[in-house]
Amino acid sequence: MLDRRSFLETSALLSALGFLPRALSAEEYERDVARRDVPAGPFRGRPCVVSSANGIAGVKLAYDRITAGTDTLDAIIAGVNLVELDPNDQSVGLGGLPNEEGVVQLDASCMHGPTRRAGAVGCLEEIATPSLVAKAVMDYTTHVLLVGAGAKKFAQALGFKTQTLLTEKSRQDWLRWKSRLNKGDNWLDHDDDVKINWTHGTINMNAVNAAGDVSSVTTTSGLAWKLDGRLGDSPIHGAGQYTDNAIGAAGSTGLGEMNIKACGGFLTVEFMRNGATPEQAALKTLERMVHMTEARMLDEKGRPRYDIQVYAVAKDGRYGSATMYEGASFAVCDEKGARLEKCAFLFKGAERPR
Ligand code: ASP
Repeated sequence: MLDRRSFLETSALLSALGFLPRALSAEEYERDVARRDVPAGPFRGRPCVVSSANGIAGVKLAYDRITAGTDTLDAIIAGVNLVELDPNDQSVGLGGLPNEEGVVQLDASCMHGPTRRAGAVGCLEEIATPSLVAKAVMDYTTHVLLVGAGAKKFAQALGFKTQTLLTEKSRQDWLRWKSRLNKGDNWLDHDDDVKINWTHGTINMNAVNAAGDVSSVTTTSGLAWKLDGRLGDSPIHGAGQYTDNAIGAAGSTGLGEMNIKACGGFLTVEFMRNGATPEQAALKTLERMVHMTEARMLDEKGRPRYDIQVYAVAKDGRYGSATMYEGASFAVCDEKGARLEKCAFLFKGAERPR
């Protein structure tokens, strides 16, 4: 056993030799704090909520709650609940398009900046509000991610109501997809005049309050017709969303497989940590995703055959969003009210591979 004195001497020696992190001097600490955008002393920022475009009503609800004093995570979960419970949004919660077997499987994750906590659920069936179950994982367990039957059992134990999530509209869309899969099968083709409007979608929402506290949440039914058991980016911290209370939060919607490989949520926050604005950070993350994309998902000019949007908010209330291909919008609410704004983009809309 080392006594305290020898321990300190040994640590100093190891530290001098580069084996242990050296304690920062007061000056270095101040510099580090400034670099990480952590406010020294009382902080005053601008409350702001940013989300995918389908969250236009949700950002307003969340902003109003945040400015009335509600915690940022509770406020944005209330915001995304609107979309989860809307049967007409076929990308999230109730009415979400099912997997290839006709089963709706939902994914969600959240992070609470001030307490550095996180929760998530994947492949959750029959519970319309996976964002609330993700928060319950965070609030009531030592785990951060529950999946499948275990996630459902956990939710039921807490009193979440089970219900059929497959609406008649989503069931019809699934049958249409299924009937067209193989010309030689025993399903007769439907008339082709009805289009399936959605095959993917999600809601990501990120918020900051005037004290600079930050949270993020993402919830989805994932890709339509996915394989049973497929998890996208939404339930994965660091991919579908990420929060560091010292910097800000970020999340995304779009082809989750591409985002997982780039750790998009985490990376966007890291770019902000290193001085990028939220919009610049989102664009740099998209560039990294393209860099990490396998050949089969790129066209002959190296452009992605998929789209992804990244949304970000900084601790001081700055916000931004970017998409691969020109044309997408995102929702934001701050003191100027709720509105849709155009995402920055990497490629012109006309360049999108058809
Ligand atoms: N990111 C979602 C997923 O991959 C889908 C989407 O946003 O379109 O599950």
